[in-house]
Amino acid sequence: MFTMIPNLVIGAVDLVAAFLFLFGLKRMSSPATAPSGIRVAGVGMIAAVLASFLYVFSVGGAAKPHLMVNIALAVLALAVGGAGAWLAGRKVAMTAMPQMVAIYNGMGGGAAGGIAAVELFGGKTHGATELVVTLLGALIGAVSMSGSIIAWAKLNGVIKKPLRVKGQQVFNALLMAVAVAIGGVIVYGGIVGATPLFYPITWICAFFAFALVFGVAMTLPIGGADMPVVISIYNALTGLAVGLEGFVLHNPALMIAGMVVGAAGLLLTLLMAKAMNRSVSNVVFTNFGEAAKQKPGAIKGTERAVEASDAAIKMRYASSVIIIPGYGLAAAQAQQKLYEFVKLLLAAKVSVKFAIHPVAGRMPGQMDVLLAEAGVPYDMIFQLDDINDDFATTDVALVIGANDVVNPAARTDKASPIFGMPILNADKAKQVYVVKRGEGKGYSGIVNGLFYDPNCNMVYGDAQTVLVKMIEGVRGLGTAAAA
Ligand code: NDP
Repeated sequence: MFTMIPNLVIGAVDLVAAFLFLFGLKRMSSPATAPSGIRVAGVGMIAAVLASFLYVFSVGGAAKPHLMVNIALAVLALAVGGAGAWLAGRKVAMTAMPQMVAIYNGMGGGAAGGIAAVELFGGKTHGATELVVTLLGALIGAVSMSGSIIAWAKLNGVIKKPLRVKGQQVFNALLMAVAVAIGGVIVYGGIVGATPLFYPITWICAFFAFALVFGVAMTLPIGGADMPVVISIYNALTGLAVGLEGFVLHNPALMIAGMVVGAAGLLLTLLMAKAMNRSVSNVVFTNFGEAAKQKPGAIKGTERAVEASDAAIKMRYASSVIIIPGYGLAAAQAQQKLYEFVKLLLAAKVSVKFAIHPVAGRMPGQMDVLLAEAGVPYDMIFQLDDINDDFATTDVALVIGANDVVNPAARTDKASPIFGMPILNADKAKQVYVVKRGEGKGYSGIVNGLFYDPNCNMVYGDAQTVLVKMIEGVRGLGTAAAA
């Protein structure tokens, strides 16, 4: 009776938390409702964490003397972790978001692996099923942790080049096979009561060591540019690991949260792969950026540059403008200036729309978030399928810090690494302006034929600097002209 009520309360809170996770996730599907979705899911998580303190009423006799110390440690861990995450979250630049996601995802995998380690080292798992589930969660969690740390190191520039050696894939397969075989020995030991050759603890250590090394070895050969997709794969794996450990701990909130993260990560991976027209195995096993080197002279022509103010004035007197933001806008943090410029165009009765490619930038949804941050109304933002037909009847397409997502080679050049990727039809507009700093290539590392088209002009410079000049250009026309 004494433990029944707290357990009932934990179960009820976990159920509510699970509902809040799902409801929050649903709201995250649109930029308009995403901030509240994140808050709703956060409330669910806080509730589940607080409810877990009620487990103090059901601790066994052996753990009772350590109760106060353990509670203090849990509170300390929550305070340190929570404060660190809060500060890091406030400080992080939008362009550094993939690294941050990578490191937090690694922690999630590590936490799942940690739960499994406590269960395994403490001999708390009983029966073959529970052992297998614990080990599976441990394996996936450990791989996800070490792999995510390598992904973070690549995105942060700590590891600069992919590390590839001959026979690497066979070596990786061997590492995985050994880890699985050791897992088999541990399950065997759990069933018959003793492990062959070594103490169980040695086998468990070896199991974790192989799993961790596998995560490192699998991620090292993948190019830095493919890391966002890889992180999404690890995100799905972390969710799965957490869900499995939730099963072991009989904790419904963990199970549901893990499965939600796992399913969302899997769907995101598939969506990213589809938007890039690549298979997931192509991302993991081939070297995209490097295979993408075009033959010199594959595309001929000259880029024609114009002044920012001239391009701005042309847009001011156009009747319709579609803006295509890309990675460079995020890198320059120029979203506020962009919207300031757009407001001047709107004041001059120009129809302005934003066209978002599903993989513009370096993270899905990155452009939506940037524009939302600048205060751009959602009804001005259009996704690829909803706007692509409009380009043909549009006066000006303003490509700002984007490259691959408007590269017509995706439509026409069968040899191109991006062939088949859906692109925004910027080239179909009457006039195209491309804002970028110089001859820099996009993520795929290939030349963009659009820049040489007769209807295209380049506006060279950092996106922020160019936009300041564009704003001055339109303002320079005077209030009468701009109004
Ligand atoms: P790209 O990476 O193709 O191009 C970005 C362009 O921005 C570059 O050509 C660069 O040229 C320019 N640029 C960089 N910094 C600045 C700056 N400060 N001011 C102005 N311009 C700048 O970006 P896109 O958004 O077009 O395409 C995204 C690419 O990333 C796609 O290939 C996609 O497949 C890939 N990708 C996207 C993921 C996602 O989830 N969004 C995940 C994984 C990959 P320059 O150096 O000359 O300035």
